Amino acid sequence: MSDTPNLRIPGPTPVPPDILEAVAHPMVNHRGREFAALISRVAERLKDWFQTSNDVLILSASGTGGLESAVVSTLSPRDRVLSVSIGAFGERFAAIADTYGAEVIPLQYEWGQAARAEDVRQALAEHPDVKAVLVTHNETSTGVTNPLEEIARAIRSQESGVRSQGPSRASGRTDGPLVLVDAVSSLGAIPFEADGWGLDVVVTGSQKGWMVPPGLAFVSMSERAWRAYENAKMPRFYLDLGRHRDALPKGQTPWTPAMSIFFGLDVALERMAEEGAERIFTRHASMGRMVREGVKAFGLELLCQDERYASDTVTAIKCPEGVEVSALRNTMEDEYNVVIAGGQGKLQGKIFRIGHLGLVEEEDIRETLAALEQTLAKLGFAVRAAR
Ligand SMILES: *Cc1c(COP(=O)(O)O)cnc(C)c1O
Repeated sequence: MSDTPNLRIPGPTPVPPDILEAVAHPMVNHRGREFAALISRVAERLKDWFQTSNDVLILSASGTGGLESAVVSTLSPRDRVLSVSIGAFGERFAAIADTYGAEVIPLQYEWGQAARAEDVRQALAEHPDVKAVLVTHNETSTGVTNPLEEIARAIRSQESGVRSQGPSRASGRTDGPLVLVDAVSSLGAIPFEADGWGLDVVVTGSQKGWMVPPGLAFVSMSERAWRAYENAKMPRFYLDLGRHRDALPKGQTPWTPAMSIFFGLDVALERMAEEGAERIFTRHASMGRMVREGVKAFGLELLCQDERYASDTVTAIKCPEGVEVSALRNTMEDEYNVVIAGGQGKLQGKIFRIGHLGLVEEEDIRETLAALEQTLAKLGFAVRAAR
């Protein structure tokens, strides 16, 4: 057992030694040439992971700040937004929109389920004036990945409806509802296509799939989103994406950035390019499978019933009858140096979660499953013969 804990929570994720070292880089002028080159380099590389030809803006904020920037940069008070929510982070996205005065129309699912494209299509048909749809790609609180491509297609299909109604044709535009995506715990780890799937604002955070510490949010905006920006009236200053867009060609950010994280990100993106998207996605798929098969073999149940939507970055597991989640987590940490997460919101005390995104190899999962098996036995759960 090494000193560094096996950090199996869905973010912050472990940071490898070479990236930790990069984070300790001495400060330079954040408006100087060296840092300008670095910003340009990482912003360019991020476009590959988003699969977008649009700029990727880098905010010094956690993922939630990125979500807030998406809302305030595209919407106005009293705009109607459809919130597709399958868990705690879906609720958070909706709460941000509500806080700034949007009229939120909820489309909620039982926690553990994925959203259905058909329901989204129907909700939009009932509310043709919806300005934006808020959707979580990977719901970290429940371990469920939404069929985002299908959902986005359902939203985009509204465009033809808007066009046939006339007013948008007059202006030469066919903009349907904007698709605002929380991709915080999916981007960089599982397949994703911002442009190909027709997504308008995409948000992710440095401490999830990217192997760097918390502190940066990455946000892309489509042309359609920039058109919405021009008319968006929600109050904004620090999180104004237009200010970030205008600073980027100079290799700058509007405010002093979290420079240390940028130094780490530079090395992380180099590492990720070396491994390659294909291999990174395959590794996450196989880690996800390994965790699911492992816990099921112990006789445990996944929160996500339909495994087609089970997340390859985080797994939520129902805590068995008679076992306390807190005792389970504490024992794993104290005796095996393995740190796992509990449940959020209404799932607190009911589930526990294992993170498997970013820096994760088979050995980490083997160690986690072994610790879990022994801990469960210690706490009196009859672990089914696994192998
Ligand atoms: C982690 C996470 C966030 C952002 O959380 P922060 O703590 O603000 O970084 C948002 N959405 C999802 C799905 C997440 O996993």
